Amino acid sequence: MIKELQLKILPEEAVNEQSLRRVVCRETGENPESVNAVRVLKRSIDARQRTVFVNVTLRVFICEEPAEAEYKTIEYKDISDSKPVVVVGAGPAGLFAALRLIELGLRPVVIERGKNVRDRKKDIARISREQFVHPESNYCFGEGGAGAYSDGKLYTRSKKRGSVDRILNIFCQHGASVSILSDAHPHIGTDKLSRVIENIRNRILHSGGEVYFETCMDSLIIRNDEVMGVHTRDGRVFMGPVILATGHSARDVYRYFTSQHIAIEAKGIAVGVRLEHPQTLIDRIRYHRKDGRGKYLPAAEYSFVTQSAGRGVYSFCMCPGGIVVPAASSPEEVVVNGMSPSNRGSRWANAGMVVEIRPEDLPDCTDVASVSCDMSLSTVSNDVSAHSPAIQSEHLSVMRFQEQLERICRFQGGMRQTAPAQRMADFMQKRCSPDLPVSSYAPGLQISPLHDWMPEFITSRLRESFRQFDKVSRGFLTNEAVMIGVETRTSSPVRILRDRKTMQHVTLKGLYPCGEGAGYAGGIVSAAIDGELCAEQAARLLRR
Ligand SMILES: Cc1cc2nc3c(=O)[nH]c(=O)nc-3n(C[C@H](O)[C@H](O)[C@H](O)COP(=O)(O)OP(=O)(O)OC[C@H]3O[C@@H](n4cnc5c(N)ncnc54)[C@H](O)[C@@H]3O)c2cc1C
Repeated sequence: MIKELQLKILPEEAVNEQSLRRVVCRETGENPESVNAVRVLKRSIDARQRTVFVNVTLRVFICEEPAEAEYKTIEYKDISDSKPVVVVGAGPAGLFAALRLIELGLRPVVIERGKNVRDRKKDIARISREQFVHPESNYCFGEGGAGAYSDGKLYTRSKKRGSVDRILNIFCQHGASVSILSDAHPHIGTDKLSRVIENIRNRILHSGGEVYFETCMDSLIIRNDEVMGVHTRDGRVFMGPVILATGHSARDVYRYFTSQHIAIEAKGIAVGVRLEHPQTLIDRIRYHRKDGRGKYLPAAEYSFVTQSAGRGVYSFCMCPGGIVVPAASSPEEVVVNGMSPSNRGSRWANAGMVVEIRPEDLPDCTDVASVSCDMSLSTVSNDVSAHSPAIQSEHLSVMRFQEQLERICRFQGGMRQTAPAQRMADFMQKRCSPDLPVSSYAPGLQISPLHDWMPEFITSRLRESFRQFDKVSRGFLTNEAVMIGVETRTSSPVRILRDRKTMQHVTLKGLYPCGEGAGYAGGIVSAAIDGELCAEQAARLLRR
């Protein structure tokens, strides 16, 4: 017999399968010997009242063994002799596009400008150790994309439950813990993600697909308004329809599109700071307990959202038990983000605190259309200062704002990867912090008056919102917390225009702008879903 139970239990009762079995026996009156297995279908923490509960939905197998596997698996065919589809970028969008192409009988040829996920790790370590950002191998570029060295949070606001479950199952098939299928806020953890990414790569290779690292797309091969393939920076050519999944930090791709008059438009983003608290303080606030979270509760999370002067202000990518990381993709910038390991065991809690910015909020800029038509990515490097006014298109206005702020941030931080920072209450009082708390940000912090040099339309909204957040979570606004500048890579500053139905670019057949960089996703899961959809449309085109 199989029973499903919905229970509200104490954290110590939800801690492992053994304790759950005891609860099941208590609730159902069954003998411990007859309960063969207990599977958690859903788990969430309810910390709204003084006593914190865990809500669980359980499937209990009484006098019978579970017949089905814990997750669904997909059969991947041998596609070595099939037609190729070029996938540019090995982030979640590109990797899930590649897997879906294999399922549909096509051969993905993945090209990735960065290194494989292991070698990339060494370059990431150098950012903190040597204050050196490798422009092709960093927190944004390399196998696994921007999501590889992240919290690996897999929750999404996407309403497409079927698609989300499918992505989570594929993650499990490639080595993620099955707990991601039941947790209300699933996450893999940065320490475990690299193995999952390697498994996905090996799946692509063993099925007959191809993966090339340190291979940067330089330009598209276009004939009669149809994309036939790509040229790479090292002179190679890959032919086939192109799924372009280059992420939100490939600014050279946006510049190339502008130079070629390929339709894009400016898109709103959110900009602000990373805010870091001691985790114990957040635990005390969220769990309403003076002694913190105790032995059985996970590091507490928070999520805030409000409006200030007509713009949204919200917490972004909250990392309980995490660290603040240097996420720039060029040595000229300082940008911060957050991540955490699977055990969420660090002493700190951090989150982006960001203000929504729309293109119309920014000062006007001139659109100069006179750009050379044979320009390629290598002639439009990622160095902003090297750009002629010829590519100062209005479509890049938000991206330029991002870049300028990141450069100012580096200047304020001391021209290294040290980040400018200010205590939270000092920011509210508009006074310089005399000192800073110990932080998880490894390259180091530099005392800086963020209230003074960050744009007023951001700082005034942050101030108002912090007051509101403190009203609902007393103690949140504190000088124990430190604000670290700047958080700018919350989403893509550009949208590459595509047809809603065919997902092809609005003027170029055979080009599928995909994932976060194209402006159609935000986060690992939604990027992966978008990758799958683009693969399906590319397959449809080839079948025709
Ligand atoms: C530190 C950090 C933590 C994060 N934490 C989370 C989290 O916990 N949960 C979550 O949902 N999201 C998180 N995100 C956001 C998430 O990583 C992105 O939303 C997601 O990775 C977007 O996927 P994508 O495939 O569209 O693009 P990306 O992941 O950015 O991948 C794009 C890939 O394309 C490659 N590329 C770019 N240009 C070229 C070119 N010309 N030729 C070849 N290759 C190219 C890049 O090197 C990169 O690997 C985090 C991001 C960062 C930086």
